[in-house]
Amino acid sequence: MNKATHAAPQNAEAVLDPAEISAEHAARRAEPRPGDDASGAGSNFLRAIIAEDNAAGTYGGRVVTRFPPEPNGYLHYGHAKSIVLNFGLAAENGGTCHLRFDDTNPLKEDVEYEDSIAAAVRWLGYDWGTHRYHASDYYDVLYEFAEWFVAQGLAYVDSQSAEELRATRGTLTQPGVAGPYRDRSVAENLDLLRRMRAGEFRDGAHVLRLRIDMASPNINMRDPVIYRIRHARHHRTGDKWCIYPLYDYTHCISDALERVTHSICTLEFQDHRPLYDWVIERLAEGGRLERPLPRQYEFARLNLTYVVLSKRKLLRLVGEAHVDGWDDPRMPTLVGARRRGFTPAGVRTFAERIGVSKSDSWIEMSVLEDAMRDDLNAHAPRRMAVLDPIRLVIDNYPADASEDCLAPNHPQRPELGRRVVPLTRELWIERDDFAESPPKGYFRLSPGAEARLRYAYIVRCTGVEKDAAGNVTVVHCTYDPATRSGTAGADARKVKGNLHWLSAAHAVAAEIRLYDRLFRVPFPGARDGQGVGGETAGSAEPLLRHAVAVAGDDDEDADERERNFLDDLNPASKRVITAFIEPSLGNAAPEERFQFERHGYFVADLVDHRADRPVFNRTVTLRDSWSKAPR
Ligand code: ATP
Ligand code: MG
Repeated sequence: MNKATHAAPQNAEAVLDPAEISAEHAARRAEPRPGDDASGAGSNFLRAIIAEDNAAGTYGGRVVTRFPPEPNGYLHYGHAKSIVLNFGLAAENGGTCHLRFDDTNPLKEDVEYEDSIAAAVRWLGYDWGTHRYHASDYYDVLYEFAEWFVAQGLAYVDSQSAEELRATRGTLTQPGVAGPYRDRSVAENLDLLRRMRAGEFRDGAHVLRLRIDMASPNINMRDPVIYRIRHARHHRTGDKWCIYPLYDYTHCISDALERVTHSICTLEFQDHRPLYDWVIERLAEGGRLERPLPRQYEFARLNLTYVVLSKRKLLRLVGEAHVDGWDDPRMPTLVGARRRGFTPAGVRTFAERIGVSKSDSWIEMSVLEDAMRDDLNAHAPRRMAVLDPIRLVIDNYPADASEDCLAPNHPQRPELGRRVVPLTRELWIERDDFAESPPKGYFRLSPGAEARLRYAYIVRCTGVEKDAAGNVTVVHCTYDPATRSGTAGADARKVKGNLHWLSAAHAVAAEIRLYDRLFRVPFPGARDGQGVGGETAGSAEPLLRHAVAVAGDDDEDADERERNFLDDLNPASKRVITAFIEPSLGNAAPEERFQFERHGYFVADLVDHRADRPVFNRTVTLRDSWSKAPR
């Protein structure tokens, strides 16, 4: 991971005014959007729930949400959906959204991840103000509550081994059975818990469990473990603790302590909701927590075609060097998206367009790419770049002359002005803008044919030079001085071809990294995924059910249902070329984005771009070529 990607955002766009963000979200709330219906696309059932709570005065008009990442990895598009949802709902209701690091596992967490997570949330345009918290901030009170549960007879220390705990827990079809320690006295439990905390026991010797119902049909309610012994140093609390609380116990209490109103999480936590409610209800009854209590709501996680969003798989991609690090522009991480040239506004638009629903589905990668195209089309200045150059010589143009042609920076936004592009006798044009024997319907240059050089003159191709092997090395033409763009005679003659070009004397060489989708199939690793390359997710309907199962791929039997997802990597996902660009592009700031006319959107690389060694990444092509062309 390069240090530079942790740096503060450099361009103005990255640091959005909070007022601007809440205005953006408020506008969305006010305007019904096409596709705003119960089907999920563009709709958001949580928005309606919050509106009802506000109308009923459930929380006195307060709206407090939270985004609770575990600091154990880099954020990806799935997290972005959750961030836009939580921060967006708070913003559009004049509420607050907390950033809370869910740091209950001392073995996996690191402050490097915390910094990158905070930077990613800020990059997306959101601000938590003073509300940056850690689950570890609550360790003292969580422990105090644990003693309270013990004192009430609602928790006990269990000394069974891990195997015994598993065996007595039952299965989805069989109830659990009470273990031999379930009826320990309050005094004994309290003594053991305090000695656990004091470090008297080795890891795994005892656990603290809630005393709920071993026969519950919901496995989460069968006396869940809430504390375990772990002699490990925590990145924030150091060696203070050797017992650590588990997620289900920690999360609901953290929400309640922060007076969260709507606790929004993904569907896999639906079965945990009864436990969430049980814990905070008991504490509220005991006067330990204030009402009204937070409520948990679940939504379907984001599944995106042509990438993987599982932490385990992303780790393999980086660890085995299939990509160039966490911020590789092909990675679905937010650091990768940023380096790719994707925009925060594009990500927010994407999240809004896909909507929020309660049923699992797949979103096509083209929805994300189109959101970027829409944002970049509106904002990116235009430039010319020749990616696969061949020399064009205008034989009737004076050898030592040069004239300034004026090109608009944005065709729909004249206020962005025009720039000077120098025209000289020798130019670079794209190799495929010339064809010696043109196919039918080819309107670019071929012997005897005419085409316009954008912002300059109409030229007629007069011949070519070839090397010994017969390859065309130079194209010759003549220009018509009466056809200069912007002059009275310019449109007297119509030509269909309209080519971009660069003066060979002025063009600057640049490294261009042509990025494409990381995988060549929509559902990487799906068993029947083979042969569906090029099909869209929509037309691959029979695959959907299976692929959804694969998406929740951090569960144990996932591997049996899958082929190796690495077999589906797209070998053409990165191609590095040397190309020619307009001279001014060398002075682009890192992260500055442009449309290279007729090619797509490109960004000056955040890390490697320098004035004396320009490096641009292709963000996205102008049009989606994946839905048409099978590969
Ligand atoms: P882990 O398996 O380590 O818990 P995780 O992907 O759940 O991984 P977290 O850091 O726990 O990562 O996630 C933070 C928040 O982002 C959670 O609320 C989680 O539900 C949400 N989130 C994670 N992945 C997605 C996804 N694909 N779509 C929507 N939300 C997601
Ligand atoms: Mg999680």
